[in-house]
Amino acid sequence: MGDLSAHFSKSEFACHCCGQMKIDNALLVALEHLRALAGKPIVVHDGYRCPAHNQEVGGVSDSEHTRGMAADVSIPGLSLQQMYELALQIPTFFSGGIGAYDSSFLHLDVRMHSARWARVRGQYVGIQSLVNTPPTLLAKIQGAPGIGSQPV
Ligand SMILES: [Zn+2]
Ligand SMILES: [Zn+2]
Repeated sequence: MGDLSAHFSKSEFACHCCGQMKIDNALLVALEHLRALAGKPIVVHDGYRCPAHNQEVGGVSDSEHTRGMAADVSIPGLSLQQMYELALQIPTFFSGGIGAYDSSFLHLDVRMHSARWARVRGQYVGIQSLVNTPPTLLAKIQGAPGIGSQPV
């Protein structure tokens, strides 16, 4: 039992440099949804970053992490592809940001427009470099109520 929600605690989202914490409720709800779909615990590597820490780790200056709207996560036992397919099924992540990283974690955020990327050996590239979006899954998601046919 977490102190933020059923499975998440403030300490997991606190800035690694100063301990400050900010989290958007939509992110928390989406992560709980993802955990339920996965049926496994989610490891949060990075949640909130204060602007100074964000700069230090080379994050883009308007990173969703500085707004408490992003988390870098992995799910032990699942591949990057498996995690990506689960994340696509969460509406706020589907219509928000999903980044795949070659160190085997996903960046997930609840920004209000779709963004996709991968980071391979320090370079930003197309997300298809690391994962693929199964057309059947996409058709299923786009046919779901409440989700428009947004480009991925
Ligand atoms: Zn900090
Ligand atoms: Zn991130």
